[in-house]
Amino acid sequence: MKKKLIIAIDGYSSCGKSTFAKAIAKELNYIYIDSGAMYRAVTLYCLRKGFITKNGIDTEGIKNSLKDIHITFVYNPDKGEYETWLNSENVENEIRSIEVSNFVSRISQIPEVRTRMVELQRQIGVFKGIVMDGRDIGTVVFPDADIKIFMTASVDTRAQRRFDELQAKGQPVDYREIKKNIIERDVADENREISPLRKAKDAIILDNTNMTVEEQMEWIRGIIQEKLHGDRDR
Ligand code: C5P
Repeated sequence: MKKKLIIAIDGYSSCGKSTFAKAIAKELNYIYIDSGAMYRAVTLYCLRKGFITKNGIDTEGIKNSLKDIHITFVYNPDKGEYETWLNSENVENEIRSIEVSNFVSRISQIPEVRTRMVELQRQIGVFKGIVMDGRDIGTVVFPDADIKIFMTASVDTRAQRRFDELQAKGQPVDYREIKKNIIERDVADENREISPLRKAKDAIILDNTNMTVEEQMEWIRGIIQEKLHGDRDR
């Protein structure tokens, strides 16, 4: 049987993890899973249910509702991409809003939320042939992943990319607000108690500040070939 890999891509917010992960999945005909979309979908659910207010976050309410939150990835043939669904509703666009971005790092700090999401992520990866991106994929979700990449890029490059992405979707955008949100999420993601954003010991660093997607693909092709055929050629 053809060997299939688990490829884990972690790194900072908005450094092009999903673009890169999608391109790899497409080339290898693997499944691509955006684990951040799962935390975003939970956050959207919490906003809608009133668990997030000016007075704080109703952690108990969230914990009790986890069993009612069903997240799936449904293929959209028109776009040729998987989209995030929350309880039988396509929420792909809504989960990218700045409101969700502003709260997602706090919701993803709740231990029970993480436990549930990691469980789902491992279920999806059980047959391998998967590229998953996030913050803790190589460290916690798939510590035995075949390839681990840790991505980074300068804050300005990341803010500009997010700005362009949201603007292209017709969403209202303010560059300063986006940059502030990225810096805040870096701090929150790196400093949370459970599964903080860390480079796994065996992850390879990819700084793509000055790289195109095709250059990143060229870079990883050799690594993939080595993993798929390295043992055989030796
Ligand atoms: O990848 P994206 O920026 O969409 O992720 C949104 C947020 O979800 C991150 O800022 C982080 O707080 C959380 N997240 C996480 N663990 C992951 C993926 C995302 O905590 N594996």
